Amino acid sequence: LTHSILLKNAALMVTVEPTLGEGPLGTLEEADLLFAGDRIAAVGKGLSAPGALRIDATGKIVLPGFVDVHNHLWQSVIRGCGAQQSLLGWLDSCVFSMGFPGGAIMSPSDVHTAVTLSALDVISTGITTVVDWAHLQDLETSRAYVRALEDSGLRFVFAVSQLEDQADVLRRIKAELIDGNSRAAMQVSSHPTRDYAGHLKVMARLAGELGVKLNVHLLENSAQREQGAWEALEHSGALELGPGLLVNHAVHLKDEEIVALAERDVRVSHNPLSNMRLASGIIRLPELHEAGVKLGLGLDGASNDTSDMFATMRAAVGLQRVRSLRVDTFPSITDVIRAATMGGAEVLDMAGQIGSLAPGKKADVIILDPAAINFAPRHDWLAQIVFNAQPANVETVFVEGRPLKMAGRLVGMNPAAAVAAAEQVAARVREALRKAGW
Ligand SMILES: [Zn+2]
Repeated sequence: LTHSILLKNAALMVTVEPTLGEGPLGTLEEADLLFAGDRIAAVGKGLSAPGALRIDATGKIVLPGFVDVHNHLWQSVIRGCGAQQSLLGWLDSCVFSMGFPGGAIMSPSDVHTAVTLSALDVISTGITTVVDWAHLQDLETSRAYVRALEDSGLRFVFAVSQLEDQADVLRRIKAELIDGNSRAAMQVSSHPTRDYAGHLKVMARLAGELGVKLNVHLLENSAQREQGAWEALEHSGALELGPGLLVNHAVHLKDEEIVALAERDVRVSHNPLSNMRLASGIIRLPELHEAGVKLGLGLDGASNDTSDMFATMRAAVGLQRVRSLRVDTFPSITDVIRAATMGGAEVLDMAGQIGSLAPGKKADVIILDPAAINFAPRHDWLAQIVFNAQPANVETVFVEGRPLKMAGRLVGMNPAAAVAAAEQVAARVREALRKAGW
């Protein structure tokens, strides 16, 4: 017997399926949504489902859960770190100095604590799927990392790396921690640079062997041009993975590189708040879109500091308007809401499962309450989702029909305990960095 939930009488249902409603986002007014177990069973007006648990959505906005295609959840313990640094300085003083998660400073249990705090924050902003680029780490750390992701209730993609001669550990991570979990997927991570080209080549081959994507940071800062980022991508076989390659940031692309990514159907994540914080630059988003590249939005861990998908959408729109001095440039309001939902699902090849409110898809759904001082009154709710909304307006979050946030509160989680535990880890991290002279 599968349990059913009926969301009744939503003021605005944003299906992100043009065929199901009005406009490019397929919106419906005064509409209902029915879940059967972990999936969406029906969307439309006047649905009835005897025996279903009814949730009154009168006056509310219903959307597919957000898809965050780039994050580093362990970085909650370095929030605020390196505030005056650009990318390379920030990496040295806040990330490499730590010896990565699971290194000398953070134990597997510390990693669990750090990931848990970010996971709660990510759920709170309405994200239901997160790609976590988790660095190179040992099997024990990966166990703790994945356990934290699993316990959070999120749908997740664990992007992880190993040394070249540790391919077996990657195979074990996939077999033991990922396969068999309907909410989990895996990617292999590496970094395109001249000095690290051997690693990239081995990881590209392994990603192909495992049938998962290779996930890298590409030309985030202009200094990475001198490190041979693009050449490394070309010569390692990574570029040839095509849709099996996901590149993050891609800020400093030449025209011919945009064409090369588009021709191969390589996927791109845009991380506007991180790009602003680290003075990285402004991505050529309209050009990438025009070339046909599939684009998603990412929060990018502690080089952003917040977990706020609304601020991320707002910055993605704002940066292109400032760059072009035009209000009609890509992304529009509807473009950016699509990028945060269906666009992210397409980037991950998960559009058959998530990203829109279509019957048969997973019931990854959020409810916003617009009756708030920062959001009301109603004028153009789609614009207000991008320009006004905050995580506090996310009233309810479902992943596979299971509530992770209800009535504005995280379900079965203890935020105060998560904060207290993270404070203890962060204090040790700060002290270790101070002793090391950072
Ligand atoms: Zn990143």
